[in-house]
Amino acid sequence: MFQEKLRQMAGESLTRRLRTLSSGTGATVQFGGRSIILLCSNDYLGLAIHPAVIQAAVRATEQYGTGAGASRLICGTLPPHEELESALARFKGTESVLLFGSGYLANLGIIPRLIGRKGLILADRLCHASLIDGCRLSGADFRVYRHRDSSHVEALLKRRSSNRPALIVTDGLFSMDGDLAPLPELASLAKRYDAMLYVDDAHGTGIIGPTGRGTLEHFGVEQEISFHMGTLGKALGSSGAYLAGPRDMVEYLLNTARPFLFTTASPPSTAAAAGAALAIIQQEPDRRARLWSNRQRLFEGLQRIGFRMTETISPILPILIGDAASAVAFAEHLLAQGVYAPAIRPPTVPDDTSRIRVTVTSEHTTDHIDAALRAFESAGQATGLL
Ligand SMILES: *Cc1c(COP(=O)(O)O)cnc(C)c1O
Repeated sequence: MFQEKLRQMAGESLTRRLRTLSSGTGATVQFGGRSIILLCSNDYLGLAIHPAVIQAAVRATEQYGTGAGASRLICGTLPPHEELESALARFKGTESVLLFGSGYLANLGIIPRLIGRKGLILADRLCHASLIDGCRLSGADFRVYRHRDSSHVEALLKRRSSNRPALIVTDGLFSMDGDLAPLPELASLAKRYDAMLYVDDAHGTGIIGPTGRGTLEHFGVEQEISFHMGTLGKALGSSGAYLAGPRDMVEYLLNTARPFLFTTASPPSTAAAAGAALAIIQQEPDRRARLWSNRQRLFEGLQRIGFRMTETISPILPILIGDAASAVAFAEHLLAQGVYAPAIRPPTVPDDTSRIRVTVTSEHTTDHIDAALRAFESAGQATGLL
């Protein structure tokens, strides 16, 4: 039965396989016995391999052991968890923060506590899968609106029957497209139509905004949007997620969010690592500056070669290809040239929008970027895209 399903997926170029890197995710990695340029990691600031971050994880392990031993509410809460929650709340300017084991778990846990079966959810069509699963789990009536289209949101809110609770759900920075949600418009619609707004800033946290506080800071809407979530596994180079918001909300979620209640607390090392990464993000703004200049060099290079690039402001640069088989061929060609940026296919992205999702980090050198551009040009020519 499984074989047949796999054969069918293979026929559509939709099977995936694990590839094991033999070094940590830096600007370059060891893969298949050679050094290749990595252009798909979300470790945007190189903090997963930063000596101070590694040192913090090692020290926490030595002091508290490898595992937390139980869920947070039983006996799994350790100083690194508490310190990280306080540091994140200070960074985000909210009363409180609650950690979750991952972004996926946070979205499954939080959304059903915001809205129930009687409610209406309006979600961006390109929301992350974990948001969609959280929305489904809530049992609410679930509608999608056109990508970044706040007038569509307004039309759907206008049609809502009175007294029906409503929740707008969006990524802050869209993970596969690299564009930003129209947060000021969504926040004012939420206010005008008495709806809640849930922003997932997994990719924005640490890199977007003048001080890296995220997409809310970029748009200047931190006061208007009283809570949001983000993750620790991307720019923070660790693992886990957080909800930043008012104290009563955090206390309610701590009592009711099932993926918080019924799971072992994250290891003290990952919380300590995220805490150290957060400190570096605040102390070393030049990392963000390097990220943006690298992003600009890569973006302009890809445009010059002849790829049609969407105008975004993020280090996520999708090269749209279309069908899954061509995207896979493109990625294989890149890999042969020493560049790793895999094909992203359905169900991660909508049908016929398969792509190479390129991400650049602060740690790439101009030589890495120029070498990568030569590989992209050659892959584009070999696959007939250029
Ligand atoms: C990566 C991502 C998640 C999942 O976070 P994990 O901590 O990796 O589980 C959730 N939402 C968005 C928008 C993401 O990009």
